[in-house]
Amino acid sequence: MPGVETQLDYVIVLVRKSANNMVHLLQGGIYLPAEYNHLKGHICLVTGSSRGIGAQIARTVAAAGARTVINYHSSQQQAIQLLGELTEQGYQVMAIQADVSQSREVEAMFAQIETEWGSIDLLVNNAGISLKGLLTETSEEEWQQVMDINLKGAFLCCRRALPAMVRNCCGRIINIASIWGLRGASCESAYAASKGGLIALSRSLAAEMGPSGINVNVIAPGPVETDMLLQELDCDERTALTEDIPLGRLASPDDVASACLFLLSPVASYINGQVLVLDGGWKV
Ligand code: NAP
Repeated sequence: MPGVETQLDYVIVLVRKSANNMVHLLQGGIYLPAEYNHLKGHICLVTGSSRGIGAQIARTVAAAGARTVINYHSSQQQAIQLLGELTEQGYQVMAIQADVSQSREVEAMFAQIETEWGSIDLLVNNAGISLKGLLTETSEEEWQQVMDINLKGAFLCCRRALPAMVRNCCGRIINIASIWGLRGASCESAYAASKGGLIALSRSLAAEMGPSGINVNVIAPGPVETDMLLQELDCDERTALTEDIPLGRLASPDDVASACLFLLSPVASYINGQVLVLDGGWKV
C-alpha cells in the first residue's frame, strides 16, 4: 500500500518539524521553525547585548543561524550566562567586553572577531544609556556620556565594520534609536538628541552605503520592558503608560528582536534608510 506509506512518511515529517519547532520554542521562548535558518553563514555583532533588548536580539539572530557576538560593558556575569545558554543550545556565539564609546576598545573587539571568525556582515548598534532630568540640571559630563555611548558608539562601530562590508558588497546595519529621537521628550533632552542624531546618521549612511550593497535602517521603539524602563518609571507610571498604548501593553524585548530579525533577513533586502517605529500605535 504505497499510498498509505507516503501519507505516513508525510505525517512523520510534519511531527518531526513540529517537534523541532517546539524545541526552539521551549529553549529560547522564540518561535523560530528549524528551517528558518536564514542567517546561516552570517556573522552578527550586537552591541550592548548582556541584558535587555540586546540580549534578546542576540538570542534571536543566533537562533536564526548567525554566528553571534555578544558585546557587554559592565555586566560580565549576565553576558557569560547568555553565552552559556546559547552555546548549550548549539548556537555559535562569543562574548567580548568593550566600551563602545572608546575607539581602542572597539578596534580590539573587531580585531578579535576577525581573528576568530572573520569580518562581520550584520551589525546591530543597540548599546545605550538613558538620562532623565531637566536640561538646566544636566552637567556637561552627563551630556557627553550619553552622546558618547548612544551616538559616538554607533559611529565607531559603523566606521570599523564598513570597509569589510564594502569589500564584500553586502552588509546590514540596524541602529536602535527611540521614538524620542523623532519626537523629542521633556526631561530627556540629551537622550532624545543622541537618538535623533543616530537617526540622522543612519539615514545619511543609508544613502552613502546603498550603492555598495549595504542597508542601514533604524528601529525606534516606544517603551520596552527592560531595566532601563524600570529605572525611569515606577509601577503606577508604567500602568498609566500602558493604558495609553492602543495595543494595551508595553513592548517586550522580543518585539524589538523580531523587528530586527525581519530587517536582517533576505526578505527585507529593499528596505533602506527607514525608521521602523515600534510603539504599539502609541504616538500615531
Ligand atoms: P538596558 O536594559 O539598560 O541595557 C543596556 C545595554 O547596553 C546593556 O547590555 C549594557 O551593557 C549596554 N551598554 C551600556 N553602555 C555601554 C557601553 N559603553 N558599551 C557597551 N555596551 C554598553 O537597556 P535596553 O532597554 O535594553 O536598551 C537597549 C537599547 O534600546 C538602548 O539603545 C536604548 O536607548 C534603546 N531603547 C530602549 C527603550 C526602553 O524603553 N527600554 C526604548 C527605546 C529605545 P552592560 O550592562 O554590560 O554595561
